[in-house]
Amino acid sequence: MDSLAQLKPDMVKIWVDDFNGKYPAKMQPQIYKAIIKEAHQHNLRVAAHVYYLSDLKQLVAAGMDIIAHSVRSNVIDDSTIAQMKSKQVIYIPTLSLDEYAYIYAQQPEWINNEFFKKSLEPGVYEMITTEKYQTDLKNAPNYAFNIKAFETAKQNLLRLFKAGVLIAMGTDSGATPIRAQGFSEHLELQLMTEAGLSPLEAITVATKNAATALKIQQQYGTLEPGKVADLIILNSDPVKDIKNTRQIFAVYKDGKEVSKGPLP
Ligand SMILES: [Zn+2]
Repeated sequence: MDSLAQLKPDMVKIWVDDFNGKYPAKMQPQIYKAIIKEAHQHNLRVAAHVYYLSDLKQLVAAGMDIIAHSVRSNVIDDSTIAQMKSKQVIYIPTLSLDEYAYIYAQQPEWINNEFFKKSLEPGVYEMITTEKYQTDLKNAPNYAFNIKAFETAKQNLLRLFKAGVLIAMGTDSGATPIRAQGFSEHLELQLMTEAGLSPLEAITVATKNAATALKIQQQYGTLEPGKVADLIILNSDPVKDIKNTRQIFAVYKDGKEVSKGPLP
């Protein structure tokens, strides 16, 4: 931690997960407690990759700052939610990651969407649309397990959001090629609305709340005088349908138009 702090990172991320038994052991509490203590002494926040509710409870008690990914093992109980709120823990659900774990077996309605196709690396579309790929995914031992995990993740997002825990958007896109970079952010917005957030609430999670999570809200996250003008202009109203965030007319960075979006 001393050598890491010299590199001046924004935060420290740890993994507390055995990936459904794939790895023999998870990071032990005495290790992550030491990491959290040392990180905080260096004024660094700690984000934890969490899957199981039992780990979440221990990590919250140990002072972890940010939960990266959803709790997918169980629905989070009220007392844990109350502790997360009082300790101002930030939650980043990454729902699209969980949908990508199984969705290509079901031919999602967006699979032939031009925005999606354009955001894929060469060869990925051909791979995910073969019958063999889709059948193998459907027959994988964890197929039903992953679908259930995704449903639990959506329930947890809504419960935490309603309780007033700060939710910020993340996707984990690009970590594997089937998580399309660029499209995933728009899919994440849609999935948050499917979990029960309104379109405007989902957009706020992706903008204002994400900037707050990064502690850059003085300059970013909302359209206000004095803030950096990073924004997209849409052809259709996303409050009416969240999928309208994909109807991009122009992309602005720091007040300058840099793109007309992914499609001509
Ligand atoms: Zn992770």
